[in-house]
Parts: sequence; structure tokens; C-alpha cells
Amino acid sequence: MKSGVKQDKRIALFPGSFDPFTNGHLDLARRASALFSEVIVAVAHNPAKTSLFTPEERVDLIERSCAGLKNVRAMQFGGLVVDFAQKCGARVIIRGLRAVSDFEFEFQMALMNRHLAPKLEIVFLMPDQAYTYLNSSLVKEVARHGGEIRGLVPQVVEKRLHERFAREKQPAKPRGRKR
Ligand code: ADP
Repeated sequence: MKSGVKQDKRIALFPGSFDPFTNGHLDLARRASALFSEVIVAVAHNPAKTSLFTPEERVDLIERSCAGLKNVRAMQFGGLVVDFAQKCGARVIIRGLRAVSDFEFEFQMALMNRHLAPKLEIVFLMPDQAYTYLNSSLVKEVARHGGEIRGLVPQVVEKRLHERFAREKQPAKPRGRKR
């Protein structure tokens, strides 16, 4: 390497709900891990939004799903993405673009984030086309009704979804006897 080349750490933040983490998210994390020295998958904790998994459960599932990607880790955050990025020392925010339908919302959000933090760059990555139709809500809906989700989510997520919905299907425990 040439002397004088500054070797600073390039940290990228990949924020989202990840409820749950899918193979589309994993595809993006893998692509980002090849481009940056460190990737933080940031799980948004938004108490106003109902979610299937708690932020802690989502972080755990992401950590397990990304175990093979040594420079990827997961954390939860609340508040503005730009504030958390700055706290982590990240200068890049990663977002995914699956189809043109994602563009308008992502564009608005990117411009707002740029307004809030002009030094941050927003980088859009495209997943493998096998995942362009995939989103967390759809996966939850299919799993809730007992449909096949193999290949759409990492194995640990598949297992956890089946466990969660099997529990929901169990009949409610009988209450104590009436007097
Ligand atoms: P959010 O609620 O912030 O959109 P998501 O968990 O739905 O959180 O998505 C986080 C990021 O991952 C977004 O940039 C979204 O476009 C991207 N993403 C979601 N699903 C896929 C997929 N199947 N392939 C690639 N990127 C995806």
C-alpha cells in the first residue's frame, strides 16, 4: 500500500424495522460488508409501532443470521437515524431499493436525512432479484397462516416464526372454576 494513504474506518449503518430480518436484508448486509470496514444493522425501536418481535429479539436474530459476516453487528436505537449514525461514527447510511415503488419514499427520506445531517451519505443497494418481491410483512402473513417460508428468511428466523405462531394457535388455558 502507498505510504500516506489514510486508512480510516468506513462504518456504515443499515437501519430498518427488521421485523423480522429476511434473506433480502441479509443479501444487503452481505453486499455492504464487502464495501465497508464495519456494518451496523440498526433496529429501530419505535414504541408507537406494533411489532411481532421485540427490538432485543430482532437484534438477536440478526446477530445469529449474520454470524458468518465478521464485520457486521446489530444494535437497537430510538430516535433519529442520523443521530444514531453520528453516535456510531458512521458516515454512510445503507438502504435497499427493490423496485421503483420503493423509490419515492426512500428519496424523500434520503433528502430529509441529508437536510438533517449534510455530511452523511445515503447509499442504495439492490438485492439479488430473487428477493425483490420480499418484505417482512408478507413473510409474517405467510408464516401466520402456515405457508412455506423456507428460503425467504434465515433458518433461525424461520424457526422463531414457527414457534411464535404455534404459540398463538394454542387454545387459551381454561380459567379457574366459577363458584
Ligand atoms: P423500514 O421500516 O425502515 O422500511 P424494513 O425492515 O422494512 O424497515 O427495511 C429496511 C431496509 O431494507 C429498507 O431500506 C428496505 O428497502 C430494505 N429491504 C427490505 N426488504 C428488502 C428486500 N427484500 N431486499 C432488499 N432490501 C430490502
